[in-house]
Amino acid sequence: MTPVLGVREVGMAYGGGVRALDGVSLTIAEGELLAIVGPSGSGKSTLLHIMGTLGRPTSGTVEIGGEDVMSLSDRELSTLRGRQLGFVFQQFHLTDGLSAWENVATGLLYAGVARRSRRPRALEALARVGLDHRSGHLPQQLSGGERQRVAIARALVHEPMLVLADEPTGALDTANGTAVLDLLSTLNDEGTTIAVITHDRDIASRLPRTVELRDGRIVADTRAGTRAETRPGTPPIADTQKVRKAPA
Ligand code: ADP
Repeated sequence: MTPVLGVREVGMAYGGGVRALDGVSLTIAEGELLAIVGPSGSGKSTLLHIMGTLGRPTSGTVEIGGEDVMSLSDRELSTLRGRQLGFVFQQFHLTDGLSAWENVATGLLYAGVARRSRRPRALEALARVGLDHRSGHLPQQLSGGERQRVAIARALVHEPMLVLADEPTGALDTANGTAVLDLLSTLNDEGTTIAVITHDRDIASRLPRTVELRDGRIVADTRAGTRAETRPGTPPIADTQKVRKAPA
């Protein structure tokens, strides 16, 4: 099956000789839930930008749904983003004057969905995150955890190929953070492909796959073992593959 995302040998150099990414290759298959983890400065945000087609790498290739995004114009990229990707941010980024369902419906603006379908689709997405009873509330009438659930509904409403969540629990207390992670797991069980960017190893360890970044390189790609994923001859509990660091 065509991967949802294919990043190959991606490098990103900023001015002043900073190499934020150096030879990063990553494939995400449909139905995966993975964490991209690493300390501050390891290149997570840069990789997220490139995966989300918000930035172009200085070398390497990026494919989304088998399409080479490097050859697309900015306009084509924004169409691709609007249809195939969903974004969740640490600070939710909801629009203040809009109700929960109207915020969710903004996720349909660039997805080519007819106006009359937007409200029912938004309500359906709110129901998936357990917030249909709050559809008329404004963001300031919602708790932090509820706001993030609205933001997740907005990221899902157009049924994107891949949801990218940037520190989605970073602004929440432990209980709400756990609830948001549980929700992401449930949505993944229902078929949504999700990549979570985090500096928090505890969060990463709760997800089925962990890709670890260090100094702009992938240093480990670990999958929690399930019977379906474990190949013959590998331990049943964890299938950990350390990626050898290429010589500098
Ligand atoms: P993380 O998200 O893991 O904290 P970043 O991707 O933000 O890491 O940063 C990786 C490296 O690239 C860091 O050394 C950072 O200082 C540098 N960097 C990030 N953005 C820029 C930029 N716009 N200009 C120059 N250097 C940058």
